[in-house]
Amino acid sequence: MKVLKFGGSSVGNPERIASVISILENYITHKIEFAVVFSAFQSVTDKLISTANKAFKRDETYLHDLNQIKLIHHEAVQKLISKSITDSTAFKVADLLRELEEVLHGVFLVKELTPRSLDFIMSFGERLSCTIIADAMKSRNIDAEYLDARKLVKTDDNFGSAKVKFEKTNLNIVEYFSEHKNIQVITGFMGSTEAKETATLGRGGSDYTASIFGAALNSEEIEIWTDVDGILTADPRKVPSAFSLESVTYLEAMELSHFGAKVIYPPTMRPAQLRKIPIRIKNTFNPQHDGTLISGKDTGGEFSVKGITSIDDISLLQISGSGMVGVVGIASRIFSALADEKINIIMITQASSEHTVCLAVAPQSGERAKSVIEEEFKWEIRDGMIDEVVIEKNLSIIAIVGEDMRHTPGISGKVFKALGNNGVNIIAIAQGSSELNISVVINKNTLTKAMNVLHDSLFFDKQKNINLFVVGTGLVGGAFLDLIASENTYSTDISKAKLNLIGIANIDKMVWDRKGLDPKKWRNFIDNSTDKSDIKKFINVIKEFGFSNSVVVDCTASKIVVENYNDLLSWGISVVTPNKIANSQNYDEYKHLRTSAKKGKSQFRYSTNVGAALPIIGSLRELVRNGDEIIKIEGVLSGTLSYIFNSLKESSKFSEIVKDAKSKGFTEPDPRDDLNGLDMARKILILMREIGIKINLEDVKIEKLISTEAENASSTDEFLKLLADDDAKFNKMKEEALAEGKTLCYIAKYEKGEASLSIQKIDKSHPFSNLHGSDNIVTFTTKRYSVRPLTIQGPGAGAEITASGILSDILRIANSIN
Ligand code: ADP
Ligand code: ASP
Ligand code: MG
Repeated sequence: MKVLKFGGSSVGNPERIASVISILENYITHKIEFAVVFSAFQSVTDKLISTANKAFKRDETYLHDLNQIKLIHHEAVQKLISKSITDSTAFKVADLLRELEEVLHGVFLVKELTPRSLDFIMSFGERLSCTIIADAMKSRNIDAEYLDARKLVKTDDNFGSAKVKFEKTNLNIVEYFSEHKNIQVITGFMGSTEAKETATLGRGGSDYTASIFGAALNSEEIEIWTDVDGILTADPRKVPSAFSLESVTYLEAMELSHFGAKVIYPPTMRPAQLRKIPIRIKNTFNPQHDGTLISGKDTGGEFSVKGITSIDDISLLQISGSGMVGVVGIASRIFSALADEKINIIMITQASSEHTVCLAVAPQSGERAKSVIEEEFKWEIRDGMIDEVVIEKNLSIIAIVGEDMRHTPGISGKVFKALGNNGVNIIAIAQGSSELNISVVINKNTLTKAMNVLHDSLFFDKQKNINLFVVGTGLVGGAFLDLIASENTYSTDISKAKLNLIGIANIDKMVWDRKGLDPKKWRNFIDNSTDKSDIKKFINVIKEFGFSNSVVVDCTASKIVVENYNDLLSWGISVVTPNKIANSQNYDEYKHLRTSAKKGKSQFRYSTNVGAALPIIGSLRELVRNGDEIIKIEGVLSGTLSYIFNSLKESSKFSEIVKDAKSKGFTEPDPRDDLNGLDMARKILILMREIGIKINLEDVKIEKLISTEAENASSTDEFLKLLADDDAKFNKMKEEALAEGKTLCYIAKYEKGEASLSIQKIDKSHPFSNLHGSDNIVTFTTKRYSVRPLTIQGPGAGAEITASGILSDILRIANSIN
């Protein structure tokens, strides 16, 4: 025989209940005997509590809430019960609801709501659901019988969280089942006291009911059916990459649930463990999935860490003082003082010096716990042996759980490193002596980030997940998205890097999905989004997601994201961009970005700022890092100007070349943006800053290519017309050069701390003389490369090639994560 339990999430509406009954029919077909426990319908227990509280506060709208509760149940009766028994079910349900109404009215009148009466009120949830479901099963010809668990489960009178008296309970159950052979539909979550009063077993306690019955009946398996594929490595609402575990031990399940994994109620494991009965967690919405098996055996999966859980809101009490050192019994005095007040200690840590003890408690018990401890130690505090108790609020605990961790060295090191590298501050640490659990206390506002960071580092250490947020879907952004659509997993030096596209924003719209967007459909996502673009909001979403290895890819040419780089970088979010604005703004701001990245342990990568995917910035950095000294940098760093001057070799009309380049899409929409030299000036500036020279854009001397008149023309067409006035000038320069056996070239140069852009006559032996098309070229004359400079040449512009440079930067980030 099996004992099954279906939670509120499985019985959220009549349709779901019907599919649960289908699962049960399948068991019957396969001749599997079972008894089944149900929770209240989804969120009914919460509604009962809030309605009772309203009545207690004499808020008459409790009647409205009660009506809602009535409706939920009436609807279920209508939809699930066959005509022949509708009247009898409706009668039972109406009776229960009338009784509930009377009790609530009583609370309203006497303004009293004790834990005892609240337990009674809560019990209506399961009594109603099971009454209806048992009859719904009968309607489908199943021999089902309603069983009020209060008849059999005996408890103490600790209302709200009653302790089960197992001896009596087990006897009752065995006896009852020997006489009742129909399928029992058991009300979860409740029992009754000696005085026959209703007592509940604690929130989420229906799981426990299943275990109590399963153990008493020595059943072969207890199945807990819920809305996820078993116990996952983390709460999927916080960590989207969480996955389900095949098996865990009773101890692991207990520890995970104690530290917040709501999927199973912690005491559930106990009765099952004593009788060695396995518990299986299954998904009502995916019955084919095996779910997770909880048993005494560690079936030794791939991971020594089984899960990461959290208690989201706690307060930390710190008790310290010189009088605590070496004094026996301090901790036990703290425990018993708090136990007397029924304050639960979630976690305790003690520094090895014994100078400080830290206790984590639920936030609502924080102040009370502080005064209880201060009362307990009032003499020591008066004598200055113990300091006043310090309370810290808005904290969370994360627990990393796994029995096998004790055999795996280095887990705690990994935990601290992952958190440290991502700027999560650890406030306290506890490691149980069993090494089943490592717990860390952190600030609540870093919780999601910490959970994701830890999950990635503990479960995906062979694969780096990089989470991308792409801003700008123009030529470069579009090419980049197409590139990752064609391939999103890459082998890198250390492991595999998987690129997850999480969000996209452009000038009009934005879209995101914490589970990831299929990059193949990126255009649909952004086109169909109804969210208007708002970069601040987009950035807040990135922060809230808190994913590890988040990277913003700025493919805009505007300032809009640049203005947020410091914020992103210091928050721990890396930035990859071909946008040159950030690196060419004033020097202090340039430096500020580096400080922010250091602070956030994030990375700012911009190798495409100069020469697209050509390894220009990287090579320069390598040279400097390896102790070389840069004497001179010369380069044709603009694809457009390269094209224009290369074409001048064949043509006599400068203005025609510019027009041709524009029509081929080789220039900015307004070619003045290329011809004014600013683009190239920015690039030489970025290279100089890379080698440590403090210079600003206005320090770059630019020999103008176009007249002031042309520059100030009112339109692009007007400009192109005026440009023709200079054709003769350029032709003359070219002819003069030719006479000397030379050609013209527009060159950016750095030497002796100064930078300039100028038209130069170069002879045939010059490395720049056989430049083709729109190629870029740069030469580094250094101490080591002094005779023949180091030359890098190749296509230095274009959307696809820039996109591939962006990808390289991202993979560099993946490579440097550990
Ligand atoms: P039920 O109503 O079936 O008792 P609960 O809501 O009590 O369901 O528990 C299931 C929920 O627990 C899941 O929907 C999931 O969001 C949450 N949960 C938290 N941590 C975990 C975890 N580690 N594994 C699986 N689920 C988890
Ligand atoms: N209905 C109860 C609750 O919501 C018990 C349960 O769902 O397990 O806490
Ligand atoms: Mg539950």
